[in-house]
Amino acid sequence: MSGTHGTTSSAGPTTDPVPPEATAATGEAGARQDALDAVTRRAREVIPEEGIITDHQRLRTYECDGLAHYKVTPALVVIPETTEQLAAVVRACAEHELPFVARGSGTGLSGGALPRADGILIVTSRMRAIREVRREDQRAVVEPGVINLDVTRAATPYGYYYAPDPSSQQICSIGGNLAENSGGAHCLKYGFTTNHVLGAELVTPDGDVVELGGMAPDAPGYDLLGAVVGSEGTLGIVTAATVRLVRVPEEVRTLLAGFESTDHAGAATSAIISAGIVPAAIEMMDALAIEAAEAAVHCNYPAGAGAVLVIELDGAAVEVEHEFGEVERLCRENHAFELRVATDPAERALIWKGRKSAFAAVGRISPDYIVQDGVIPRTALPEVLRAIAELSESSGVRVANVFHAGDGNLHPLVLFDDAVEGAGAAAEKVSGAILDLCINHGGSITGEHGVGIDKAAYMPRMFNDDDLDTMQLVRCAFDPQNISNPGKVFPTPRLCGERPGRRKGAHPLQESGLAEVF
Ligand SMILES: Cc1cc2nc3c(=O)[nH]c(=O)nc-3n(C[C@H](O)[C@H](O)[C@H](O)COP(=O)(O)OP(=O)(O)OC[C@H]3O[C@@H](n4cnc5c(N)ncnc54)[C@H](O)[C@@H]3O)c2cc1C
Repeated sequence: MSGTHGTTSSAGPTTDPVPPEATAATGEAGARQDALDAVTRRAREVIPEEGIITDHQRLRTYECDGLAHYKVTPALVVIPETTEQLAAVVRACAEHELPFVARGSGTGLSGGALPRADGILIVTSRMRAIREVRREDQRAVVEPGVINLDVTRAATPYGYYYAPDPSSQQICSIGGNLAENSGGAHCLKYGFTTNHVLGAELVTPDGDVVELGGMAPDAPGYDLLGAVVGSEGTLGIVTAATVRLVRVPEEVRTLLAGFESTDHAGAATSAIISAGIVPAAIEMMDALAIEAAEAAVHCNYPAGAGAVLVIELDGAAVEVEHEFGEVERLCRENHAFELRVATDPAERALIWKGRKSAFAAVGRISPDYIVQDGVIPRTALPEVLRAIAELSESSGVRVANVFHAGDGNLHPLVLFDDAVEGAGAAAEKVSGAILDLCINHGGSITGEHGVGIDKAAYMPRMFNDDDLDTMQLVRCAFDPQNISNPGKVFPTPRLCGERPGRRKGAHPLQESGLAEVF
């Protein structure tokens, strides 16, 4: 299985919590139930009743994230309001070796917030305080459940905004952004979440509250904050983040360019970047993605285009003006047959509407689809897009492409109809082959959506055993009991002492005395 099923119709693995009657307090199941009961009691002591969910129907609300293919009903959901409440629950989990999973808004596309049937889900949606906005320092300190766009809303009166802008920015949480190291259209110029987080308050898997980084631009010692950003909830739960704010640019200009083919659009992208211009965003959509967006939001993109680029420049007015002329010239030189410059905010919004609605819009032209996420060096774009088109043609599986072209961050949408026998399997195959293409062209199996449960099996295609074991050492240093979002990111748990491992005998790092098993 790879990627994201865009509808919930596919029947993925569904697990219900062990019903109480089946867990007569004997054996392993009994011990699990005892642990769950103890953690539930502790949660009730510290969290107001409305933040505790045990009712089966209500638990099912949390059975999946944006990757609706996989569904697991958690045994318990808690919704703490403070760091202290959250830490107390995690401490209880550690004491009773009960697995827990953090969840922000549940928009993740790789099943990272998929619950455990034998564990608890800790939801941060009530931790939404913006603790402070420090105008002079260009920093804000926010709690994990704060919605990405709300950071910008809080900073706007001071002339600042929060730059990382996933397309889900109206609903996804800062905690989830941190855990996924999320990107977005404007990350080409401004960088990913990791470039905008300076500090985090972290509840470690044993329930301690620690500070990583802070207001200063750099901290001495190992970059533990760097390890936590992108760790997908496997190293603990972030309960506050200190984020960098960026000055609202003096000028923003947006252009829509129509090309006959993705080859031409890819070449134009490379030409712009190699001319030394760093646009705020370069987004690409191919013909099928355009068709879907037109059907959904009537964005009026150039008729007959095999690909469009949405290019945005921002910064000082004089600079933007000069570079915008260059961008127009380079698009024409690379066979753009139509250029449309937004002359007012309404036109700019319409250009972006087509792009931003593309994922959802694909639902109009296909009952099911997989959102794949892989990244390649930008210069490989034309070649890889051609190879995807060939894969699509030879397999008969339609693939729509809508992605962050400036970063080489691909989001092929692999379309299928689950009602047709074998269609899902064929789509899976194409989806996996696309990941192989990314790896073979020097890229990676995920650009920004994380590994989660979905791509854990693909990790060995990128990393060898030693690489994976070394990553496990980091994980085990934070979480020796393997209770913080276990089963995600890594194909199988290894090297955590008593945990089962693929490797027989001592690990080379152990043998060389460089690492010990916890
Ligand atoms: C329509 C759509 C468009 C999207 N566009 C983009 C895009 O452009 N760029 C992009 O990068 N992503 C995109 N995404 C994916 C998703 O929105 C991001 O991954 C986002 O960061 C997830 O945030 P969340 O709050 O929903 O996290 P969740 O889905 O709740 O959780 C995601 C992961 O983070 C962990 N986690 C959550 N909170 C915490 C915490 N406080 N501490 C530690 N771990 C935590 C969870 O355990 C899980 O592993 C898109 C998703 C959708 C549905």
